[in-house]
Amino acid sequence: MDDCLFCKIIAGDIPSTKVYEDDYVFAFRDINPQAPVHILVTPKKHICCARAVNADNSLHVAKCFEAIAKIAKDEGLDNGYRVINNCGEDGGQTVMHLHFHLLGGVKLGEKVI
Ligand code: AMP
Ligand code: ZN
Repeated sequence: MDDCLFCKIIAGDIPSTKVYEDDYVFAFRDINPQAPVHILVTPKKHICCARAVNADNSLHVAKCFEAIAKIAKDEGLDNGYRVINNCGEDGGQTVMHLHFHLLGGVKLGEKVI
C-alpha cells in the first residue's frame, strides 16, 4: 500500500524503533507510549483492520500473536500484559493497517483502558 504509514515503516522508508521482525511480522515501539512497554505488532502484509481478517489471511494474525508471546518474554513481561486492537472509526483506529498494541511494564487496571 503506497499511502500507508505502517507499510512505509515496515519497508524502512520511515524510521522506527524496531523490536522484532520475522517473515510475517514487524514490531516497533509506539511513538506515544501509554505504558512503560508499548509496542505495536503488525503483519507485514497490509490488512486494513480486524474486520478484514478472513480464512485467507488469518495466518498473518496468528503469526502476530506468536510474536507477541516472544516479545513479551524478551521485554520481561512475565507477570502479564495487555493486547489491544482498535478497529475502525468507532474503535478508535487511527492507522488503517492492522496492529496490536502490546502494553505492559506496569499493573494495568481491570477495566478496558
Ligand atoms: P491506533 O489508534 O490503534 O490506530 O494506533 C495507532 C498508534 O500508532 C498510536 O498509538 C500512535 O501513537 C502510533 N504511531 C503513529 N505514528 C507512529 C510512528 N511513526 N511510529 C510509531 N508509532 C506511531
Ligand atoms: Zn499498510
